[in-house]
Amino acid sequence: MRILLVEDDSLLADGLARALRNSGYLVEIAADGPSADRWLADDDFDLAILDLGLPGLDGAEVLNRLRQRRQRTPVLIMSARMALEERVRLLDLGADDYLVKPVALVELEARVRALIRRGQGNPETVLTLGRLHLDTVGKRAWLDDTALDLTAREWAALEFLAGRLNRIVSKEQMTQALYSWDEEITPNAIEKFVSRLRNKLEPAGITIRTVRGLGYYLEKPAE
Ligand code: CA
Repeated sequence: MRILLVEDDSLLADGLARALRNSGYLVEIAADGPSADRWLADDDFDLAILDLGLPGLDGAEVLNRLRQRRQRTPVLIMSARMALEERVRLLDLGADDYLVKPVALVELEARVRALIRRGQGNPETVLTLGRLHLDTVGKRAWLDDTALDLTAREWAALEFLAGRLNRIVSKEQMTQALYSWDEEITPNAIEKFVSRLRNKLEPAGITIRTVRGLGYYLEKPAE
């Protein structure tokens, strides 16, 4: 799950990004309005966390442009200045939720989880694929009653593929979903990664198919 965190206070941005990364999210930080606007227009995010007071272009305008482009990326507004009329205006502009600063990490994370679930049209917190159960809150996978040993990135890949059953995901989409833009990755990193994940999922009867030249998909298991 990929989050764009838009915050010009670099200390706060780094602290929040660290906490969210520890919880298994991939987080990119934008420190001003115009770069947030560009990121959102050019890239796919599962959620944007948007500060209001930003250099260049304020958060409300970033939100406005996002919705003008008919992008449905869920947006969580985070701001200190939030009178009632302001909150109403932001919700009318298309914000999905808001948090008043200073934000408590547990509350931020709970809202992030809820918005991402909603954004994927999946209010359920446990996904079941045959014998495999994915707990999207606890970020753990179970084969029947046995917990699967997955790294944070393997979990992210599994969740990503499971949310797109029988749909081909390109290597490029996988890279974007699993790696941060500044991470160095080798050309066959995704192949190696998928083959490791495949080995862990095979005992659960879960198959990741390769479609040569196009990408991968997670096969919907028989009922
Ligand atoms: Ca600010």
